Amino acid sequence: MSAFTSSPFWSTGIDKLKAYVPGEQPQTGGWVKLNTNECPYPPSPLALEAIRAATSDKLRLYPDPNGNALKGVIASQFGLSPAHVFLGNGSDEVLGHAFMGLLKHALPILYPDISYSFYPVWCGLYGIAFQQVPLNADFAVDVADYSVPNGGIVLPNPNAPTGTALSLDQLRTLLQANRQSVVVIDEAYVDFGAESAAALIPEFDNLLVVHTLSKSRALAGLRVGFALGHPALIEALARVKDSFNSYPLDRLALAGAQAAIEDTAYLAQLTAAVIRSREWLVTELAALGFETLPSQANFIFTRHASQAAATLLAALREQKILVRHFGQPRIANHLRISIGTQAECELLVQALQRILAATPATTHKVSA
Ligand SMILES: *Cc1c(COP(=O)(O)O)cnc(C)c1O
Repeated sequence: MSAFTSSPFWSTGIDKLKAYVPGEQPQTGGWVKLNTNECPYPPSPLALEAIRAATSDKLRLYPDPNGNALKGVIASQFGLSPAHVFLGNGSDEVLGHAFMGLLKHALPILYPDISYSFYPVWCGLYGIAFQQVPLNADFAVDVADYSVPNGGIVLPNPNAPTGTALSLDQLRTLLQANRQSVVVIDEAYVDFGAESAAALIPEFDNLLVVHTLSKSRALAGLRVGFALGHPALIEALARVKDSFNSYPLDRLALAGAQAAIEDTAYLAQLTAAVIRSREWLVTELAALGFETLPSQANFIFTRHASQAAATLLAALREQKILVRHFGQPRIANHLRISIGTQAECELLVQALQRILAATPATTHKVSA
């Protein structure tokens, strides 16, 4: 963090911005990184080959500003038309454009109290009023809580950092009760066991579904995300994009993303491996006294019966294992652990066995 908190050279309001803080990316080797929900396996070999092939003298030319070839491949996979697809430099950019282009209205937008911590950042950047809707006692989204007047709704499904998912029927109920406003379903983790709301797009012209290639496609470093929705919603996003940066996806990203989307067999193999390790880890952690929320994602949200999360976080860090801890009151005793390779999950369990054997039970306040 920089020491500068303000400057007379800054535009009005920049000193008030509360920016997003990404998870730690250590610059030295030897860490087991279970803190930022990256995929522990490599990207599709076909995607890497396509990126290599695109590394040519063509890089002197601008890329296709609309990414029409990639849009076509995505559209056909979801049974939609290219006019239903919007592309961005990671889904964070797609979401940012959605906040700017679709969610700024007189009424506040709604999202869960425990959710993706970038949502309040975009609200601050664009001056969007918001109201947080508490998760229920099981840390799940109750769609009935969203039947209040609103300027829009944003929901990750599965939710982050809890990992729990709503069914397609629950999403339909939510959409039926909110035909007057845009509902954005952030499906960053949908491939790890949840149902995609994309199937509901023909029924609901107010639904925007956002995907990323960063998690299930193992391409966080390539920066590609996309949105699916009614062409009128897509047009709003395109206007914001073309008022900001006409070429958010470079030639390498367009080529790699297309090959990755086409390699459905590799996606299935990758997600199956992550799900297998997730179920193994949940069982092992239960034997060590952890209580874990049901996860449909490539991470779990867990707490120990007698050890404070902050203590475990620090002890794991000493063993060069990074996990994520959020300070908010309701979840101060939970850890979010990304699912690594099976070998990394085994290292984590062994480290926790050592830590728990060495530490007497601490008393801590378990919230709710
Ligand atoms: C990781 C994540 C994203 C952003 O992913 P990009 O790398 O920007 O595509 C968006 N939403 C949620 C809930 C995420 O966890």
